[in-house]
Amino acid sequence: MDMQTNFLDRLFDAGLLIETGVDGLYGRSGEFEDVIAAFERLIDRFGGQDGAEAMRFPPGMNRAYFETSGYMKSFPQLAGTVHSFCGNDHDHMSLLKCMEVGEDWTKEQEATDIVLTPAACYPLYPTVARRGALPMTGKLFDLQSYCFRHEPSKDPARQQLFRMREYVCMGTEQHVTDFRQSWMDRGVEMMKLLGLTVEIDVANDPFFGRAGKMMANNQRDQNLKFELLIPITSVAKPTACMSFNYHQDAFGTKWGLNLEDGAVAHTACVGFGLERIALALFHTHGLSTSDWQEDIRKILWG
Ligand code: AMP
Ligand code: ZN
Repeated sequence: MDMQTNFLDRLFDAGLLIETGVDGLYGRSGEFEDVIAAFERLIDRFGGQDGAEAMRFPPGMNRAYFETSGYMKSFPQLAGTVHSFCGNDHDHMSLLKCMEVGEDWTKEQEATDIVLTPAACYPLYPTVARRGALPMTGKLFDLQSYCFRHEPSKDPARQQLFRMREYVCMGTEQHVTDFRQSWMDRGVEMMKLLGLTVEIDVANDPFFGRAGKMMANNQRDQNLKFELLIPITSVAKPTACMSFNYHQDAFGTKWGLNLEDGAVAHTACVGFGLERIALALFHTHGLSTSDWQEDIRKILWG
């Protein structure tokens, strides 16, 4: 059995993750959630004084915004759309018949106005654009959302529905790149405080297809994405638990985000993979939080 399946089974046995029959879709125990809640309080301790505006969106977003975002150009393989039954009595009968005989009953489902949120920051840009110009001093937002990515896996750190806490910064190039650097430093400090082994490396998103290879290379060459990596199921291939993304003025241009002097805003976002961080803690310190070292418990629970 490989390390990923092995760790997943141990998490099920310990009751920390709860099986649903679908790879990457899990329930979480109270103890697991308690670690995430405590870690989010630690994020607040580090970032709470920065003056971020908090917003919480549901795990579904406006399909029209999703289309504008260009997500289907870059990551069609990961997207999840919400479809619904929109038929009449007759259609209903044939749907039930399909189900009964084990045929595909989903073919007639129609797209709704909602798609599943792929990253916590996606609903933010059009929301901020509607407000008008951004102050020259920039703006900072604090987000958290369940996100969907269609990447079923036996690796407990690769889930299909998982939570991402994000800070998103909009402003001048200098402002947003300083923001990104400060969170790289803070991220390393936070993980070290928690006794986790961490490294930062340049990274790329999983852009789809042949054209995607070029986009990934370009992203790497320009240092647009960094990840904070922690060993979870492999020391040789540690898992990305945070990402630090500089979008240059791409999102500013796409969404019409302008500063008060008319310049297009630059944006950057920093994402915490909350399940992955909890898993890194369980992997490193053991599957029962009551057995964790006192200094680690103190940082999380005071
Ligand atoms: P990304 O937008 O891909 O940089 O994702 C931000 C963070 O979310 C990553 O650094 C991970 O910690 C977390 N993440 C991304 N994909 C998954 C997944 N499939 N399962 C769990 N966490 C994920
Ligand atoms: Zn983001």
